[in-house]
Amino acid sequence: MPCRQKKLVLEEKAYIEKNRIDVNRYAGVTDPVEVLKIMHTPRKYNPLENDLPYHTRAQVLYHQLTEPEFERLETYAITLIDNGDFDLAETILLSLVCFANSRIERGIETLFRKGRYNPSILYKDAGPAIRDELIHQVNCDSDNRNLLLLALAWIGDEEVIRLFTKWRDDPPPWASKLYVSPENYTYEAGWELDQYGRKRLLFHSKSYHIEVCGEGIGESELARSVVVALQTDDQECPWCKSRLTVLLDFKLQDPLIKFINLPGEQLRIAACVHCNCYGTVFMKVELDGSYSWSEYNSLPDFLQERVPDEESIWRTMRLSERLMGTFEGACWTLEAPVSQIGGHPAWIQDAEYPTCPCCSETMMFIGQIDMEQAADSEGIFYTFLCGSCLISAVNYQQT
Ligand SMILES: [Zn+2]
Ligand SMILES: [Zn+2]
Repeated sequence: MPCRQKKLVLEEKAYIEKNRIDVNRYAGVTDPVEVLKIMHTPRKYNPLENDLPYHTRAQVLYHQLTEPEFERLETYAITLIDNGDFDLAETILLSLVCFANSRIERGIETLFRKGRYNPSILYKDAGPAIRDELIHQVNCDSDNRNLLLLALAWIGDEEVIRLFTKWRDDPPPWASKLYVSPENYTYEAGWELDQYGRKRLLFHSKSYHIEVCGEGIGESELARSVVVALQTDDQECPWCKSRLTVLLDFKLQDPLIKFINLPGEQLRIAACVHCNCYGTVFMKVELDGSYSWSEYNSLPDFLQERVPDEESIWRTMRLSERLMGTFEGACWTLEAPVSQIGGHPAWIQDAEYPTCPCCSETMMFIGQIDMEQAADSEGIFYTFLCGSCLISAVNYQQT
């Protein structure tokens, strides 16, 4: 029987290969809005059809859209919401917000009326009317309180800052039912309250992609790049004895990355890509590019001390000089590469800004490396810095 089954499988495979045809869903379609609608609409898998991809990525198409085209897509998403197709509407609205930096006021209004508060980043630009309704609801709607707090954190305007400060100083009765106190929801939107009740952003609003270099880039050309990603270094990880990896190497005085606002020439943020999967790894950094294993690292109990079997191989990556939107890499579910300097991080799990082990301040997000983009692997490495103590931190998350 196993033999016969194997034969049938091979026959079916041969039949598919012989009869499979190319299908171009975009043939004759030139309107970018229509192209995007096709692109976002899931296709039923048919082994006899080879679905040809469009020549331009969705993210790039969103960059090129005009104002009337944004509005048409927003209207389309609203129709989808009205018809109950939330998944597709969500992808379009997220793309409008993250890739095109559009304000989706009508979209927010529709989501709110339908009681949809997720993904909360969509509420980022909600106006005072929706904000006040969310505030009213958060006090009485225990089922949606989590999502309502996240939506408010994303709005993060003066009124919301005042409210979170009030909740911190005098917790509301419902706060005891939450897993974390209300003011901790702000981390998901990339900010925290300081001791005076002021908003402290935990990321830089300027942002640049880190892109995979084309074939044949020379060492000297790479050495001139403002930021280079993923280089294996000579230093050894004291835990697993494999070589450390410089995730990001910055030329600090280049005008492009002046926004990081550090004196000195060079910053290298390193990690052990093996041990980092078990928790945060800290390094002491100097602004001449040197770094050393931090005394604050503590060996995780569950980490096995062993030399990993194979050396990692990555694509060569460096900084793109095209300024990107602050939230462009904030959503890993949009399936666009999210390696970047600055901007809002793309948390796969909950937001996880490390606390500086020296001064106890929350550390600032500096950049992230998307391992799918770097090596067809998975997960994202997130890098952080305490500029006062000169300590870097690296976290890792995966699905
Ligand atoms: Zn290690
Ligand atoms: Zn510090």
